[in-house]
Amino acid sequence: MLDADFFHRWMTTTAASVDREAARLTELDSAIGDADHGSNLQRGFAAVVAALAEEPPQTPGAVLMLAGRQLISTVGGASGPLYGTLLRRTGKALGEAPAVTAEELAQALGTGVAAVAQLGGAQAGDKTMLDALLPAAKALGSSFDAGRDAALEGALATVPLQARKGRASYLGERSIGHQDPGATSSALLIAALAETAAATGGDV
Ligand code: ADP
Ligand code: MG
Repeated sequence: MLDADFFHRWMTTTAASVDREAARLTELDSAIGDADHGSNLQRGFAAVVAALAEEPPQTPGAVLMLAGRQLISTVGGASGPLYGTLLRRTGKALGEAPAVTAEELAQALGTGVAAVAQLGGAQAGDKTMLDALLPAAKALGSSFDAGRDAALEGALATVPLQARKGRASYLGERSIGHQDPGATSSALLIAALAETAAATGGDV
């Protein structure tokens, strides 16, 4: 079972990964956006880690809802509300259980991803974070590693796509040939989940 501590570690692992990859995320965003995706998420996940440390929530759902609120209030631009919604709605779907199964998490994440699609009006193939999140949520039903692989594959598959949502869509055909920054950071989020699960060993 996955308890609040597991979700807390998922968030701190994500923050560390975003720190490591911030320059690359910003570089990707400089090609088809406004060069702020790395710093946006760095600021957001630093706030998440600080808020979780200050008053660690007692349930998985509460951890993700607090994290989502922090992202919404500290990350500007498109990705703050979208990532915030992802975590808040996933957390809400987990309810008040003190621990959840991997399958329950996969289902809840599916609900969170659907909320992102509704908020941003994007669908698969629009060259957004959804291109990593949709396949990941599906594959997480099998295993954490399958979810991680599907997210990474989805992020890489955004390269030949033309952006139809967000700032990159203003570039039209010139958005082709670049990996989407949000899909790339979403793959980091799911990789951090798999890493946390692996570090937890047989308890998952
Ligand atoms: P901004 O575009 O406001 O500068 P960021 O650079 O932080 O925000 O994030 C850009 C990322 O947000 C994109 O790479 C894309 O993955 C994601 N994104 C933008 N608009 C949408 C949308 N409508 N639906 C889903 N994801 C989106
Ligand atoms: Mg940007």
